[in-house]
Amino acid sequence: MNSKEKNAAFRNLPSVDSILNSEQINNLEFSEGTLFVTEIIREALVEARESISNNQEIISADDLILKIRQEILSILQPRPRKVINAGGVIINTNLGRSPLSDKAQEAIIKVGGSYSDLEYDLVAGERGSRHSHPESLLRFLSGGESAVVVNNNASALLLSLSALANGKEVIVSRGESIEIGGRFRIPDVLNQSGAIIVEVGTTNRTYVEDYENAITENTAAILKVHRSNFEIVGFTHTPEERDLSALSNRFSIPLINDLGSGCLIETSKYGLDPEPTVKEAVGSGSDLALFSGDKLLGGPQAGIIVGKKFYVDKLKVHPLARAVRIDKLDLAALTATLIPYLTGDFESEIPIWRMISASLESLDTRAKSWAKNIGISNIEILDGQTAVGGGSLPGQMLDTRNLMIPRELCGPGGAEMLAEKLRTGRTPVVSRVSEDNLLLDVRTVLPEQDADLCTALSDILN
Ligand SMILES: *Cc1c(COP(=O)(O)O)cnc(C)c1O
Repeated sequence: MNSKEKNAAFRNLPSVDSILNSEQINNLEFSEGTLFVTEIIREALVEARESISNNQEIISADDLILKIRQEILSILQPRPRKVINAGGVIINTNLGRSPLSDKAQEAIIKVGGSYSDLEYDLVAGERGSRHSHPESLLRFLSGGESAVVVNNNASALLLSLSALANGKEVIVSRGESIEIGGRFRIPDVLNQSGAIIVEVGTTNRTYVEDYENAITENTAAILKVHRSNFEIVGFTHTPEERDLSALSNRFSIPLINDLGSGCLIETSKYGLDPEPTVKEAVGSGSDLALFSGDKLLGGPQAGIIVGKKFYVDKLKVHPLARAVRIDKLDLAALTATLIPYLTGDFESEIPIWRMISASLESLDTRAKSWAKNIGISNIEILDGQTAVGGGSLPGQMLDTRNLMIPRELCGPGGAEMLAEKLRTGRTPVVSRVSEDNLLLDVRTVLPEQDADLCTALSDILN
């Protein structure tokens, strides 16, 4: 571009006012807020000028206005957005972990759009506690005397250690002094709480004697951590929880058990390895058992602490409890998620348990109907494996059916391009690419999203 052409290109850029008054921007109907629109326009013009200065592309006025319109619409799009998960991991932290049950969603809408008795005792007509709502349910479900619910399991652990072990020693097995994910490291949390970490045993083998030998008058707790996202196999030893509990009782210190996922039911029924249940942990003598609300529980983000009243009461009044308290929408969704565990209806009501318990025949039927509705021949149905995910049941897989779009049907750019188009479409779909073919796992897709998934695919492929 010579300087004459550049000058012409600069001159041809529309003014802020003319863009504001253009049909494309003007017909975006909102009553106020032109200030942010003006800013977007200014930024787009700066970018367009830079592009001319650097001899890059010259954008036409129409394209520029269209780009600005899309940017405005994108900013006004509520987020996070709904996504269809055909990626084959049931509890995927990046995709928001557990989808909520219908009843949990209804509870959020009801309580969110109204005043509520969050911290108000309606009978007494005075201040109540937000902890009383889930506590009665959790006592039955866990066998614990008392319960408190906080923002997430990371804060449950931080609160427990801060309240019970600040300035004192906490004994942890070397095999459990681990990183869970998202840079969440047990030694870091201990440091943050003001506790002094005392690591015992070796990575693969730790005995009760190792714990016992480390106990001093400055010991405040024994911490057990579930190895949520990895396995140690082979020459290993971990003490029985009963024995650790007997030891902690003997020295009058609490046994804190970070269960991670917090399963309320037996997973072996579904062909999976047994995940320690909350009831087992409490039953075998954990003074506090900690777990997440949005992993195998299948509810909203939350950190649940159950156990001995003596210790739970200390947590409830600790200053950090206020900083990590659960919000009302999560609380509403959580209690609605806990109820079907009491009534035995979790398998039909809670989406992740519906996914885990879905039969291969039902997945096969859905896969066939997907293939038919997408309307393309040559789509194959393949056997595959779904991961439970989310730091639960490491390495555990469930048999599944995948719909496979073979590479020759994926269009230009192949499976990777098709996967990108699916992610960036009107209803984003997350899929998987394997050996240049596109795979869609039926098990992780909510059945009510089947129709949207088929539309998204057939729009792109046809
Ligand atoms: C997942 C996990 C956590 C963190 O729980 P969040 O609810 O994500 O904060 C802590 N400990 C263990 C063992 C976990 O598996």
